[in-house]
Amino acid sequence: MAFADTLIAWYEDHKRDLPWRGESDPYKIWVSEIILQQTRVQQGWDYYLRFIDNFPNVKALAEAEEERVLKVWQGLGYYSRARNMHAAAREIMTKHNGTFPDTYDKILSLKGIGAYTAAAISSIAFHLPYPAVDGNVIRIISRIFGVCEDVSQPAVVKRITDICNEQIDRDRPGVFNQAAMDFGAMHCTPKNPQCEECPFQSECYAQNNQLVDILPIKKKKAESKHRYFHYSVYLSGNKTIIEKRTANDIWKNMYQFPLTETDSDVFPDTPVFSTREILSHQIIHAHFYVNNVKRLPKPSENQTVICFDDIENYPMPKTMTLFLGYLATR
Ligand code: SF4
Repeated sequence: MAFADTLIAWYEDHKRDLPWRGESDPYKIWVSEIILQQTRVQQGWDYYLRFIDNFPNVKALAEAEEERVLKVWQGLGYYSRARNMHAAAREIMTKHNGTFPDTYDKILSLKGIGAYTAAAISSIAFHLPYPAVDGNVIRIISRIFGVCEDVSQPAVVKRITDICNEQIDRDRPGVFNQAAMDFGAMHCTPKNPQCEECPFQSECYAQNNQLVDILPIKKKKAESKHRYFHYSVYLSGNKTIIEKRTANDIWKNMYQFPLTETDSDVFPDTPVFSTREILSHQIIHAHFYVNNVKRLPKPSENQTVICFDDIENYPMPKTMTLFLGYLATR
């Protein structure tokens, strides 16, 4: 049996029941794919339903305020995903008369959409034969076809994409891509893949050469950068100051208490609360210092005086919500 037939036969018996399965609306496929880029299915499931509930179509997303989009996204992390989707929805309204583009190149040109997402939308919504190559697919192709080079090299990913282009089912490209995603996520997993009950067992290069634990080969990631955030929480009656992060940095356009960033944990005051957030290339050490004052300091640019009770209305990163949770229990 051809690779695609074996893969799809496995999928028909094992596919995951997900809220976006069977969906042909490119907008909803797009939302699900963007959410799943950095999020586990279990967590993504609720966010997907909430996102679609708030913004059921491109027009609703384009017309929403960015702060509302970030608020609905709050807790999912990687907030540039939400900002880019919002910008792309506006682009679809202005450049494509509100209709989701139906060619791979046009989809790829939208903000925040890379080759993987463009292929997923093109194949599932429009039946175009583009393979969606993500970490799962890189792993199964490396193992089954014996790609023994470093998969962090673009040339190696290109080789894997070429193999997928040869193997994709041209009549059912969307099913092929979803089958590959599920096979990688559920069966040929990074650790403890189910080789004993695998439909590819006899032909799998990794299995036949005792390389299952070795493939795919990835060079070590660069070390994460440590950053030290010191937040000044000014309280005067029920008023406080928050500021908007406007720089091209993590958490852009989200809100926080006035921040001082330093090169180390050393700071003149003692924090009332500390936490750590691990991002893809950064580790944030966050410390909060509460200052009860008669008069709030004069807010600088990007800062606003608000009623403390209104703070929940602002989109905030996780470190902030953790601190607010701590305050609520004091
Ligand atoms: S035999 Fe093992 S390594 Fe090969 S495809 Fe199957 S599960 Fe993956």
